[in-house]
Amino acid sequence: MSFAQSLLENVLRVAEEKGAKKVKRVVVEIGTLLMLNPEQLTFCYEVVSKGTIAENSELNIVEIKPKIRCSVCGKEFDAPFAICDCGGVVTVEGGKDAVIRKIEMEV
Ligand SMILES: [Zn+2]
Repeated sequence: MSFAQSLLENVLRVAEEKGAKKVKRVVVEIGTLLMLNPEQLTFCYEVVSKGTIAENSELNIVEIKPKIRCSVCGKEFDAPFAICDCGGVVTVEGGKDAVIRKIEMEV
C-alpha cells in the first residue's frame, strides 16, 4: 500500500503543478527486482486515489527487467547469481527503479 501511496503523491504533485483538473492515465515503469505485484499495485492505487483528482485514472504498469551479466565474459543470466561459471562476478544493472513515465491529464 505504501508504494501506491507514494506513487499517487508524486502523480498528484505533478498534476497540481500543471494545474490539472483530472488525471486520466499514468504510465509507470517498475523494475522487477522491486518484487511489486502489478495487480496488487493497481488495486491499491485505485483505493488510495479515491476522492482525489486521480480517481478512476488508468494505471499502466511497464515491468522492466534488470540486465544481469558476467563482468568478465559477458554471459547473460535470468537471475542474479553471485559468480559466473567462468569465475567472473555477475553484476545487476537496473530493475530496482520505479519511474513515472507519463501522466495524462485534463487541464
Ligand atoms: Zn563469465
